[in-house]
Amino acid sequence: MELKVDQDKCLGCGVCVIACPVNASISPENAGGHGSKTTETIMMVENGFIKLFSVDKCDKCGTCQMFCPTEAIWLE
Ligand code: SF4
Ligand code: SF4
Repeated sequence: MELKVDQDKCLGCGVCVIACPVNASISPENAGGHGSKTTETIMMVENGFIKLFSVDKCDKCGTCQMFCPTEAIWLE
């Protein structure tokens, strides 16, 4: 499985960034909704859209997909 995003569907809400347990463990700012300070995190919102960075760290838990309101992020 691979993590995918569709920027056309993304609202830039950041819910997936906050919900991802791996993101929180890499950079605590993520869990607090303050945005990541490092591209070591899996994904972050940039210019209003979700963007993938260190995708290799994704453990395929599906939490981001579950919380995204527009199905803009998913495992395929
Ligand atoms: S599948 Fe899990 S580990 Fe991977 S980006 Fe989504 S929430 Fe994070
Ligand atoms: S992918 Fe979904 S949850 Fe993540 S920022 Fe975009 S709309 Fe929000």
